[in-house]
Amino acid sequence: MEFRDTQEQADFRSEVRDFIEQQCPAELRGANTFDGTPPNLRAAMDKWRKGLASKGWIAAGWPKEYGGAGLTPLEQFVFNQEVAEAGAPQVGGIGVMMLGPTLIVHGNDDQKRQHLGGILSGEVNWCQGYSEPGSGSDLASLQTRAVRDGDDWVINGQKIWTSGAHQADWCFLLARSDPEAPKHRGITYFLLDMKTPGINVRPLINMEGSHGFNEVFFEDVRVPARNVVGEVNRGWYIGTTTLDFERSSIGASVSQRQTIERNVKWMRENASRFRAGSQDTVRLAWANRAVETQVVTMLSYRIISMQAAGQVPNSEASIAKLFTSELSQRISSTSMAMLGMAGQLRTEDAPFGGEIPTGYLFNVAMTIAGGTSEIQRGIIATRGLGLPRG
Ligand SMILES: Cc1cc2nc3c(=O)[nH]c(=O)nc-3n(C[C@H](O)[C@H](O)[C@H](O)COP(=O)(O)OP(=O)(O)OC[C@H]3O[C@@H](n4cnc5c(N)ncnc54)[C@H](O)[C@@H]3O)c2cc1C
Repeated sequence: MEFRDTQEQADFRSEVRDFIEQQCPAELRGANTFDGTPPNLRAAMDKWRKGLASKGWIAAGWPKEYGGAGLTPLEQFVFNQEVAEAGAPQVGGIGVMMLGPTLIVHGNDDQKRQHLGGILSGEVNWCQGYSEPGSGSDLASLQTRAVRDGDDWVINGQKIWTSGAHQADWCFLLARSDPEAPKHRGITYFLLDMKTPGINVRPLINMEGSHGFNEVFFEDVRVPARNVVGEVNRGWYIGTTTLDFERSSIGASVSQRQTIERNVKWMRENASRFRAGSQDTVRLAWANRAVETQVVTMLSYRIISMQAAGQVPNSEASIAKLFTSELSQRISSTSMAMLGMAGQLRTEDAPFGGEIPTGYLFNVAMTIAGGTSEIQRGIIATRGLGLPRG
């Protein structure tokens, strides 16, 4: 791995930096947009979205013919690093990362025409209907049924943990279309308009107190057969499609380093709050966290250098996901230990505007969402180390 930019990469980096400087309004930098854009930031977000769209940078990794910028993984790496350094929000979410690539590879012309534009403009919100109460890690065991009836499919069942379903216009959904087939082979991939009669979205409030995900119930929901993506019963394989996306988690490593820097600054400025000796304990903990973020950065470089060499990261991406998500929890725990009793406060006048305990509670989900730590360890053991399945 060459850590220094080539001349070309350095030029591209300064182009991205200048662009962010001009197009990303200051009030958006570092803003929390995870549960949607707060009303007071919508105008700023629109400006940023339009600027990104003008360069094809909402979906920087999509091919140009579909409205992306066709950036190589290495260029995406530089782009994502600079966006994270500036604290600028990502735009497009799962529509850009998951659904768009699936439609580009498996969608028919009508589906591409109907849906890709709305993803790129950010006007159409999507949710992912995969997990069910009995099917998360073992997703292929899902039970939501799809039965063919004339020109439609009729869906019955339940999804759970569906992020953003309460704000979504459409859902990409996996449902069982052939219960007799082996479990991976009887699943179909549907595009479902969330306004269709028979869909009931119920909020799930997480332990941090916010409404991010939901339960979604389907009662005789009719989906036109033209909304099947790819072949019937091949949905499992269609749902696992990815484009040549940068998969290094470099953005997470940058924001973790920035979080640590802000905490260390606070520790220095508030030295008088610590009892004799206790600041040393906290200082040592931050030193460990700082070293660990360097590890994350190295893991990111490892992944991107594999991609640049045309290899597909597999267990390496699991190592990065596992380490990064567990580190986010250690960083939050260290902040809480540093703040002591003040770490209980979630008011605006509390240290860090009360965001530390919110992050502490929120980060619990990081080792579950997108594949649990146990599942990542299983992948590392079997695919990475070649150990036998337990
Ligand atoms: C914040 C958040 C957002 C989410 N958003 C979405 C969404 O938008 N759409 C969606 O479809 N899903 C979503 N999910 C669901 C997520 O994909 C699942 O929670 C995750 O896959 C785990 O599945 P599960 O919750 O059913 O747990 P289970 O699979 O039941 O796991 C329970 C426990 O058993 C362990 N375990 C299970 N299998 C194994 C194994 N083979 N080996 C070792 N240990 C094992 C797990 O590690 C875990 O500790 C979201 C989850 C979170 C936390």
